[in-house]
Amino acid sequence: MNNKNRIKTLAIGVAMAASVFTLVNLSTAQNNAPTGTIETRSHVFTPVGEGIYHVTGTGAVNVMSNAMLIEGEHDLLVVDSHVSPNAGMALIDAIKSVSAKPVRYLINTHYHFDHAHGNQVFPQEVEIIGHRYTREKLSGERGNVLEESTFISFTEGVPGQIEQMQAQLASTENTDERVQLQARIAVQQAHLNSLAGIEPTPPNITIDDSMSIYQSVRGGGREIQIVHLGRGHTGGDVVVFLPEEKIIYTGDLMVPFLPYMGDAHVDEWPATLENLKALDFATLLPGHGGVVQGKERIDMLQAYLDDLWANTRALKQRGLSYEQAAAEIDMTAHSGNYPQIRGPGADVRAIRRIYQLLDEA
Ligand SMILES: [Zn+2]
Repeated sequence: MNNKNRIKTLAIGVAMAASVFTLVNLSTAQNNAPTGTIETRSHVFTPVGEGIYHVTGTGAVNVMSNAMLIEGEHDLLVVDSHVSPNAGMALIDAIKSVSAKPVRYLINTHYHFDHAHGNQVFPQEVEIIGHRYTREKLSGERGNVLEESTFISFTEGVPGQIEQMQAQLASTENTDERVQLQARIAVQQAHLNSLAGIEPTPPNITIDDSMSIYQSVRGGGREIQIVHLGRGHTGGDVVVFLPEEKIIYTGDLMVPFLPYMGDAHVDEWPATLENLKALDFATLLPGHGGVVQGKERIDMLQAYLDDLWANTRALKQRGLSYEQAAAEIDMTAHSGNYPQIRGPGADVRAIRRIYQLLDEA
């Protein structure tokens, strides 16, 4: 893996909070599975086209994000590598239940820990493709991602969470509850152990705007476009677009609920989503959550982002601190689209980020 320019990083003793992402992945195991669904201990492969799968975790391993698998005549292309070496290994193992062909390409939709920290366990011959910004982040050129607030805010709570479950375990006699708790503790302990072994591994092929891979499939070829539509969830998101099949994998640029915004370009994101809508697709595979049909949910996110930006700017102009603004901001006009909005307030990490962008402007 030397050619991928791995950097050694301090393995900080971090641990994973019971985050939104985990809960989402635990809940995405399909109940009414479409025909051809392949389920392994750790993963569910939901077919959305010929040899094209949306890949979700079952909860048996904490993977924290979705992935995508595209099978060609001779080889495989994977999108996103999950949250840790352990989760990345589980993905590689699970893929063997779908196809014995080798993985040739791994695409990172963005640099975030939960999509790219499985990179290091993919074999050396696998080409890792991502935006130039993703490489700069994962190579350490822009600082150590393991010391960033995003990584820390999603991981520092895990030891406490494990302790809490252990306390619960010690105080219950109920057999079912004990079995469940023991399983959850084992999952989070394995996750915690694996976080300590993360060596951020950047893409070795970068793109600035777009590129296409022509994957050979029986009876012809398939174009796989990797496209940067503008800044949004991070400074270097890419989507994976199959124009013939009208399928797109969006990573966290578009998810069916409120995405994390701690590194987002909130002001530019709606325009980037406009570019997304201009692509001709019918099926959207998000980086978290289940398959989305159609484009209506993109309008909802655009509207939320526009209002979040405007409301935050107004509160900042009134002299509120970002903490105060995060507590007071009223986004309840969007609660019909986002039921988790139950009153005033928004994620403080999103509001802090908007303050930072306003200060830079
Ligand atoms: Zn994510």
